Amino acid sequence: MYIDTEGIILKQTKATNGRRMIVLFSKKYGKISAGTGITEKGKGKSALAMRPFTFGRYELYKSRYNYNINNAEAIRSFYAIGEDIDKYMYASYALEFTDKLLEEDKASPRFFELLIEYFDLMSERKKDYDTLLLAFQVKSLFLMGVMPILDSCAICGCDADPVAFSVPDGGAICAECRNNLPEDVNVSLIFNLNFGIVNILKFFVKNPLRSLEKITLEESIRNPLIRIIREYCKYHMDIGNLKSEIFLK
Ligand SMILES: [Zn+2]
Repeated sequence: MYIDTEGIILKQTKATNGRRMIVLFSKKYGKISAGTGITEKGKGKSALAMRPFTFGRYELYKSRYNYNINNAEAIRSFYAIGEDIDKYMYASYALEFTDKLLEEDKASPRFFELLIEYFDLMSERKKDYDTLLLAFQVKSLFLMGVMPILDSCAICGCDADPVAFSVPDGGAICAECRNNLPEDVNVSLIFNLNFGIVNILKFFVKNPLRSLEKITLEESIRNPLIRIIREYCKYHMDIGNLKSEIFLK
C-alpha cells in the first residue's frame, strides 16, 4: 500500500547495501521506522528531503511489517540551524527528545506542528536557546499527556500553595507533604519552588511557542527549571543521557 505524509526525520542510521534506516515523525501516522535507498548525498529532489531539520513530504510503501520511503520532497528546510553550531545542538536535542517521547504508530499532529514551530523559532532566535528548548519540552509533555501535576499537591491532592517540586511524586507538593517526606528521600530530586516556577511552567503550557519569541529567563530561574524538567523526564519517561545533552549546559 502506498501512503503519503508530511514528516520530519528524527534519526537516520546506515544499514547494509547503502541503505538507511529512518525514524520518521510523520504527521499522519506518528513515529514510524522505514528503510530507504535515498540518501542526502544523492542527486534530485528526494535527496534534499533527507537532510536534517527538513520538513518534507514522504511517499512510503507499507508492507505488512515495514515501511520503505520511495520518494521524498522537501517542503521547507531550516538552513539556519545547520549553519550555527549552537542552534544545531539545540535542534538535535529536540529531535532526540521527541524520538524518545513518541510512541510508534500513534499520530500526534499537534506535537508535529509544535516541532516545526520550534525549528522555525530556533532559526530566527538570536539568544537564550535554553528558554526556547525548555518551553518546547514543557509543551511536548503537556501534548503527550505526561505533564507534571501543578494545580494541586502531587501527594495529598490539596490545593494549598506548593512549596517544592518532588520529581519522584511527579509534581508540586504542599508544605505538609514536604515536611513528611521519608527520611531516605533522594534530596537531589526535591526542588524548592521559588521565583514563580510553577507559574512559568503553566505559562508555557497556555501560550503558543511563538509568543515566547522575545522572552528570556534569568539564569537564576532558568537553571533550576531546566534541572526540574530534565530530572522529571529521566525519572518518569527514561529520557535521559541524550547524546546531544553533553553539548548543552
Ligand atoms: Zn500535600
